[in-house]
Amino acid sequence: MKVCTKINEIRAILTQARTSGKSIGLVPTMGALHAGHASLIAASSARDDITVVSIFVNPTQFAPNEDLAKYPRTFEADKQLASAHGAQIIFYPDVAELYPDGEPTWVEVTGDITKVLCGKSRPIHFRGVTTVVSKLFNIIKPTRAYFGQKDAQQVQVLKKMVRDLMFDLELIVLPIIRESDGLALSSRNIYLSTSERAAALVLSTSLQLAQSAFSQGERNPEKILTLVLNNIATEKLATVDYVEIWQLPDLTCCTNPMQASNLLAVAVYFGKTRLIDNIILEA
Ligand code: AMP
Repeated sequence: MKVCTKINEIRAILTQARTSGKSIGLVPTMGALHAGHASLIAASSARDDITVVSIFVNPTQFAPNEDLAKYPRTFEADKQLASAHGAQIIFYPDVAELYPDGEPTWVEVTGDITKVLCGKSRPIHFRGVTTVVSKLFNIIKPTRAYFGQKDAQQVQVLKKMVRDLMFDLELIVLPIIRESDGLALSSRNIYLSTSERAAALVLSTSLQLAQSAFSQGERNPEKILTLVLNNIATEKLATVDYVEIWQLPDLTCCTNPMQASNLLAVAVYFGKTRLIDNIILEA
């Protein structure tokens, strides 16, 4: 396992690999790796000749009141996990390496796609994500980049960015990995107290309720949202940020009756910890 902290160093290695015809898979992460990240790394190493995992807690996607300073940092364990799932290179730059000039040039996907859901609660978030992912794409020049459906809005925003800016790569999206009881894996789950961890199960049970209503023919989005909200309301430790349905791919308004492919996305606080989860309701 090679750890590169400098852009020049990783570029030199990857230029050589590309010249000898090797494909490059990139798995961008903020570290604190878990089985969700492992599924992306394993998919990349199954398909691409070289798998690069980037570990960078990107300051520009955090608002001043968010958890940048306390975001979990577990580099030694991350190295083990990445290597065990087939990664050959970890790109581990510091902030000065990726943001050498203070105020950066922003890459921003505009329109409703970045204004609804997490874009509403976290107005600067996606601009930070698209800026850092563009930097990573330009440094690594991957053949494929792997992302999780766990961050469903991020996936749609990045797909639009790749289309609009003609990045020459394939974006691969993989399913949400969950604990055996249904909680979606997240680096932030470690913030939860025992009682908050138990309460957080309400996310996946609520989404399952929605899925079964939809499977039984319910196509009224208001009814599905009420079902989810009522179920979350049974959990005292849960405070809803949003529970919404938007039509895919571009997060346009959902029709009634629902048609095509719709994203049901939730963001809920348990204490100070904000967790997100989602399902796709496919008509
Ligand atoms: P993060 O380190 O949270 O920025 O996540 C890095 C990548 O891992 C993103 O593409 C996430 O969507 C993905 N990811 C995070 N949690 C999961 C999960 N439970 N299942 C699948 N992918 C995930």
